[in-house]
Amino acid sequence: MDNSPKVILTFDLELFEPKEKTFQQALEIVLSLLQKHSARATFFVLSGEIAEKYPDLIKAIASQGHQIACHGWSHQPINQLGPELFRKEVSQAKTLLEQITNRPVLGFRAPYFSLNKKTFWALDILKELGFQYDSSLFPVRTPLYGVWRPKAIIEKAPIKEVPVSVFGGGIYFRVLPFWLFKWLVKRSSKKQIPVLFFHLQDFFASSRARADLKEPWLVRAFSRVGLKTSLKNFEKLLQLFQMTGV
Ligand SMILES: [Zn+2]
Repeated sequence: MDNSPKVILTFDLELFEPKEKTFQQALEIVLSLLQKHSARATFFVLSGEIAEKYPDLIKAIASQGHQIACHGWSHQPINQLGPELFRKEVSQAKTLLEQITNRPVLGFRAPYFSLNKKTFWALDILKELGFQYDSSLFPVRTPLYGVWRPKAIIEKAPIKEVPVSVFGGGIYFRVLPFWLFKWLVKRSSKKQIPVLFFHLQDFFASSRARADLKEPWLVRAFSRVGLKTSLKNFEKLLQLFQMTGV
């Protein structure tokens, strides 16, 4: 496995209700797969939903060698919060995670990849709050999110920018044929370490849609595609690549 290409594996951890399982059981299935293949990951935790409700789960994730990072407090995009609320929520979210894990929280990912030129101020606040890196950048403009010319943001950023790979999301993982996804990861790993991002919802069907998350119709339309094979394919991915946190 040591010669296999390195891949940065990340999860956004927010609440959902899996069918015929508890949230905890779904998380434990994924954690045990990671453990089985000696894979490490970074979990961006939505503190208002997960850290408050399931502190023991956060402790368990950290104790298995994974990195705990911050996904904010509520699930509001940066522009809707504005600087004042952003600072308040993110600071509260970081503090809670640090109290639970007893370790500094160094990374941040905004809901909906909502970092762009208009919300660039958020990076200064993240720096003030003691973050060392941000992973809120989707480096291509799509109908859902992302930015044109991400380089301009990456170069000016006051903290390290860790943009996700364009093809790196769970939705692409489920919708594309596995051979193609695997090929994309392999090809891009020759230039730089790919950054993949998953949700637990990429492996388990939800018992009901979250009304509060305003998922664009495109995401909703694809929410069930590929769920029958995604966990098996995910395990194949863990066998092929050396997964690490940020
Ligand atoms: Zn999220």
